[in-house]
Amino acid sequence: MKLYNTLGKKVEDFKSIQKGEVSLYTCGPTVYNYAHIGNLRTYIFEDLLKRVLLYNGYKVNHAMNITDVGHLVGDGDEGEDKLEVGAKREGKNPLDIARFYTEKFFQDTDALNIIRPDVVKTATETIPEQIEIIKILVEKGFAYKGEQAVYFDTSKLADYGKLSGQKLSEKLAGAREEVVVDKDKKNPADFALWFFLTGRYQNHILHWPSPWGKGFPGWHIECSAISRKILGQPFDIHCGGVDHIGTHHTNEIAQSEAAFGLPLANIWMHGEFLQVNEGKMAKSAGTFVTLQDLMDKGFSPLDYRYLCLTAHYRTQLNFTWESVLSSRNALEKMYQFVVSGKPGQVGCAEYEQKFLEQISDDLNVPQALGLAWQLVGDTSLPVEARINSLLKFDQVFGLRLSEPPALFFNVQEDAKLAELVELRQLARKDKDFERSDSLRQEMEALGYEVLDTSEGQKIKRKISL
Ligand code: AMP
Ligand code: ZN
Repeated sequence: MKLYNTLGKKVEDFKSIQKGEVSLYTCGPTVYNYAHIGNLRTYIFEDLLKRVLLYNGYKVNHAMNITDVGHLVGDGDEGEDKLEVGAKREGKNPLDIARFYTEKFFQDTDALNIIRPDVVKTATETIPEQIEIIKILVEKGFAYKGEQAVYFDTSKLADYGKLSGQKLSEKLAGAREEVVVDKDKKNPADFALWFFLTGRYQNHILHWPSPWGKGFPGWHIECSAISRKILGQPFDIHCGGVDHIGTHHTNEIAQSEAAFGLPLANIWMHGEFLQVNEGKMAKSAGTFVTLQDLMDKGFSPLDYRYLCLTAHYRTQLNFTWESVLSSRNALEKMYQFVVSGKPGQVGCAEYEQKFLEQISDDLNVPQALGLAWQLVGDTSLPVEARINSLLKFDQVFGLRLSEPPALFFNVQEDAKLAELVELRQLARKDKDFERSDSLRQEMEALGYEVLDTSEGQKIKRKISL
């Protein structure tokens, strides 16, 4: 297999540390609000990576964190803790907020057929492990105590910033004023490992004792601690969204490598952003879209998963309602094909060979999806063999092709609809087309689409963009 490594910026042959096994760490959600579909694109990319590894015969040991403390509104040590923001917004305790949005997160990822990690740990349940690493950093002279926090001293690490390739001076120029003027810091790029209950954080609800005083951890240290605890150091692959390259992953590397003198992970992979209307996903611009928003319009979560398969993980994807609608139509055609016959005992070897090559070439899933369509349309092969191969491909696509949803809505689930269908049937029998049309409109107002087929009226849920 070949994978693109952000560290070194090139596609490399993948070689796991342990033969036949892969240790994978993916940065998890900050659970202070619903995930938006941009966040979910990153988890879909990571799921595709995991499925491609599994398809290649690896055993995958996958760990993920849940950030329930310490992630500030700004990545550069500025602003409030996001969990405390959520708690204030909803008048609840931060841990209740965390529990609620963690559950919502897994509902979304389950609906998207994302395989759950083998181990999930929260920041708040791994405080001792985080303190342990900070202790080592202080002992080794990589960390110092200021008035507001214990900081990592970036000037002590010769290759600080190697992941992004950004020089300290560039980082400085990009830093916000608040970061630069933090008088506690020896260098503007230094970052907090442990915040004290002082100044802006004096009322921080979640806090723990530490050798340096009561407080709470910075965001980056949880991933260093959890990945090491679960996967060891170094482990094989570390993932996140591209926004993690410059600060979060750069700082994880700095902490872990300074403390233990070993690389944190061998391969660093990053998913590109989902954009909406060519811009950032923002509540204020009305472009903050959740999976529930899609479902409210009548889409299935897998329609969105299909959309994500159409773009390579290293390219930006622009979300439009029309694009998810065409994904829905394509997915429906795929389901129709799968139910058009029975899977045979054997597949199509040539297609399967090509498929394996494409997905193993830095996850070229869009190309593999194109290949799947070629297979569907290749009438020189028996339909049973094509279905057999397509179901194999679905081990990677994750579109639940082996359990396709009903193509039409079960009329009995909605009594009002059932009545209208019956009335319309009578109207059509009487050739009363005016009445038939007005009944159709009534059904549409209820959110249904009516198709007149040789077997009578078939109903679908209507998508209203
Ligand atoms: P957070 O919950 O803020 O820690 O983010 C969860 C994940 O979503 C991280 O891996 C981010 O890099 C990723 N992410 C944030 N915004 C987007 C976006 N618009 N498109 C894709 N991934 C994103
Ligand atoms: Zn992380």
